[in-house]
Amino acid sequence: MNNKSLQARKDKAFARGQSTITSAFIERALNAELWDVEGKRYIDLGSGIAVVNTGHNHPRVLAAAQAQLEKFSHTCLTVTPYACAVELAEKLNIIAPGDTAKKTIFVTTGAEAVENCVKIARYHTGRTGVVAFNGSFHGRTNLTMGLTGRVAPYKTGFGPFPGEIYHVPYPIAYHGVSVSDSLKALSTLFSVEVEPSRVAAILIEPVQGEGGFYLAPAGFLQALRELCNEHGILLICDEVQAGFARTGKMFSCEHAGIEPDLVAMAKGVAGGFPFAAVVGKAEIMDAPHPGGLGGTYGGWPVGCAAALAVLDIIQQEQLCERAIQVGDKFASRLDALQLKFPQTIGDVRHVGAMIAMELVREGDAEKPAPELTEAVVAEAARNGLILLSCGVRGNVIRLLPPLTISDELIEESMDLLEKTLGTLI
Ligand code: PMP
Repeated sequence: MNNKSLQARKDKAFARGQSTITSAFIERALNAELWDVEGKRYIDLGSGIAVVNTGHNHPRVLAAAQAQLEKFSHTCLTVTPYACAVELAEKLNIIAPGDTAKKTIFVTTGAEAVENCVKIARYHTGRTGVVAFNGSFHGRTNLTMGLTGRVAPYKTGFGPFPGEIYHVPYPIAYHGVSVSDSLKALSTLFSVEVEPSRVAAILIEPVQGEGGFYLAPAGFLQALRELCNEHGILLICDEVQAGFARTGKMFSCEHAGIEPDLVAMAKGVAGGFPFAAVVGKAEIMDAPHPGGLGGTYGGWPVGCAAALAVLDIIQQEQLCERAIQVGDKFASRLDALQLKFPQTIGDVRHVGAMIAMELVREGDAEKPAPELTEAVVAEAARNGLILLSCGVRGNVIRLLPPLTISDELIEESMDLLEKTLGTLI
């Protein structure tokens, strides 16, 4: 078995829509390292897209999941529930941002979590409109495709999309969109397209993930909070990618000190097991009738056990603090690379361990370099380094290392990146 033959079999067996970035077929993983079927070793700066924040196969996550597996793997939370689900919901209600009493539901994927936020918001407010942002990504279900603020590759050919969804610009200083531009666009939306009294929710990623790793300024999130209060609109934060200690806070909206009404969580929650949740203000969460929310696998016991272990690990290994250290270390290496390649690395930014560099031509923010970005990701993989790209223009390299990565691996990975850039630029 080798990577090439497996790739050929994969191409035959899988629809091309479920494509892959590299042809490294993984056999084994530990913390921030992967080994493929040929024994080649990689440093993983993707964490399965921000999922294994506690590293691959953290022994405590494994032990918790294994212990639960020995007992039972599934009974369905809505049929015959179990204690670990209650314990996890209680803990999530406490750690969710803000002081208002919270309640929780469990689902399975990030898209489902976002979709349920919208269901709950519509039910609670009796309104239908939802405002989302240009460049956002919220999932691949029909409703979340509609909410996503980017056509290719997520929406192309997949319409029609649900109605009553409106998009406004996300504030990105590097691309000339200020906070006041975004707020003006919202105000225009409310006078041109939809009256605020018909809007159920404003949905935002406090740090845009797939869109390119842009942090919404604290003042913008605070202004949204005020606007929502003024008009009885709910504020939903999509923390699917930026949550669970990734940015140096448990949830990225905490950087702005705001309390959302509803939070969508997934990815990092259960350290590699499919698990997602909506946590929100109790009164709002309780709006929909019994049976209106849920799903067969939502809150499955192995996921609950793993998630409880993840929460302990984040606290005991101080992973919020570590995310900041890790982010600073990567960013200082990227800053040095930017000095070396100023025409190509247009911008370096990071919020904790959500780290990115934007590749451009002639140092110009408006001249993206998506082909180079793709080549960097491919060449890095050949050099034993797993990177991910993102960005509406396809020109951002994002780093999402496990928060448990060692300093040695950070340095080694950045040496590999430097070598990779050196051969391509
Ligand atoms: N929201 C955000 C911010 C995401 O990054 C993602 C996944 N990349 C999703 C929602 C969808 O999550 P899932 O793939 O688990 O449905």
